[in-house]
Amino acid sequence: MIHENVDILCNELDKELKKRGLSRRDALKLAGIGTASFMLNPTEMQAATRAEASDVKGKIVIVGGGAAGCSIASLLSKKISNPDITIIEPNPQSVSYQPGQTLIAAGVWKKEDIMGDNVDYYPSSAKWIQDSVKEFDPDKNSVITEKNGVIAYDILVVATGLQLNYEEIDGLSESVIGTNGIGSIYFADGAVKTWELMQEFVASAKSGKKVQGVFTHPNTPIKCGGAPKKIMNLTHARLVEAGARENAELTFYPNGGSMFGVPEYHEAIVNQFKARDLKWNYKHNLVAVNPAKKIATFEHHFLEKGEWDADLEEFTMIPRTKLVDVAYDFLHVTPPMSAPDVVKNSPLSWKRGSAAKGGWVEVEKETLQHTRYPNVFSLGDVAGIPMGKTGGSVRKQYTVAAQNIIDVLEKKKPSAKYGGYTVCPLITGLGTVMLAEFDWSKKPTPSFPLDPTQERWIWWILKVYMLKPMYFHGMLTGRA
Ligand SMILES: Cc1cc2nc3c(=O)[nH]c(=O)nc-3n(C[C@H](O)[C@H](O)[C@H](O)COP(=O)(O)OP(=O)(O)OC[C@H]3O[C@@H](n4cnc5c(N)ncnc54)[C@H](O)[C@@H]3O)c2cc1C
Repeated sequence: MIHENVDILCNELDKELKKRGLSRRDALKLAGIGTASFMLNPTEMQAATRAEASDVKGKIVIVGGGAAGCSIASLLSKKISNPDITIIEPNPQSVSYQPGQTLIAAGVWKKEDIMGDNVDYYPSSAKWIQDSVKEFDPDKNSVITEKNGVIAYDILVVATGLQLNYEEIDGLSESVIGTNGIGSIYFADGAVKTWELMQEFVASAKSGKKVQGVFTHPNTPIKCGGAPKKIMNLTHARLVEAGARENAELTFYPNGGSMFGVPEYHEAIVNQFKARDLKWNYKHNLVAVNPAKKIATFEHHFLEKGEWDADLEEFTMIPRTKLVDVAYDFLHVTPPMSAPDVVKNSPLSWKRGSAAKGGWVEVEKETLQHTRYPNVFSLGDVAGIPMGKTGGSVRKQYTVAAQNIIDVLEKKKPSAKYGGYTVCPLITGLGTVMLAEFDWSKKPTPSFPLDPTQERWIWWILKVYMLKPMYFHGMLTGRA
């Protein structure tokens, strides 16, 4: 339960900043969130902000009341004078702060530090139906729920997040996480168990045993692309802290052929890996785990030199795969991810090209409006747009989608555009973070004039003390 209020969080932040001679105002400015005025004057957040509310009419149904669904519901309830908003969400704590799961798995936070109750954050003017959608019927402007039957809408917002597909890896399921040295930070209880396993791993190295830590990254889009590396860096930091680093080998096995899609961040991460003696093997996709024997099996894909092509004057390259067994003491699994089956199997998902595989919602990447159903919008992890499966992207997307929904209800063309901004606070140690901000141009897009490829303590302060209040009291309430 998130029992702290924003005053308590701000006091905690002030104590940390004081040690470094920085005021809260300066820190917010430096972090590019100077606009988060509620963190300078917490009582201001109580004030109603219903300026220039639109009096459009129309029933808005939001499926999924997590980070994206709650934020857009809050903003729409401010922007429309008599809002008719329904949120369909089965989990009473769906607003909980997922980015904190990485810190739970490293023993920095406890599970209760990230949990939030929907009733404290959903706007009072919205109706919450605690149920799941089992079918989308956009041709009839309705959804079908498990318990409440058919619910009709004028505007539909699909914000279901994504589905973790552990069972696509032979030998794995969510229930295996936390056993036999297998950790995973992608659900809160998995993160709690990962911290227990990490401590066992560190203790084993400290006892003098030579141990192997293995960290995976699958062949699908994932939420927070930096997270598999964050947990690896934190394992390294805990080993160093225990004086046991030399007894552990830590190896990253990503499916891809680089550390990051943005060349500047790729290079910075390679240098960070070298400085910490972290190993890596590209083009390895985890396909099976034998928990009893502690063996992870990867499909290694590579190109082999074939025949000489006289016309092209070069060798043909033949794609090959081979299975590689890797023994581990501690395995951190990042599972394959996709849209939830109910979305994937609906008329709303991409039916063409590589996007069809993940089943993501087919939206226009700038307006977040469905390309075939103009009264349907999607944002957050389930939206079928390039990159951007982060809370940082949601923070930019929900204002765009809210404006465009009002435009459509006012019978106008969507006027707001999302520029592809996303952010990954890449934790590089206990006390340092590299703040990787970028957009569709695949170029760093720093919010402030500092070299974005450097690890800095100020971003640790941002990550550990500022982003959580920003999320709970700014984003979820439609204020920042
Ligand atoms: C370990 C980890 C670390 C992360 N680190 C960062 C970070 O450092 N920075 C950052 O910006 N982001 C980070 N993220 C990503 C961020 O948490 C997500 O991008 C964000 O939560 C996405 O919001 P969402 O609303 O799309 O999905 P969610 O918040 O997951 O919400 C989706 C909701 O939809 C509901 N739902 C699903 N199916 C149905 C259905 N059929 N009917 C009704 N409701 C349904 C679910 O119950 C859920 O509550 C991290 C995530 C994880 C797991």
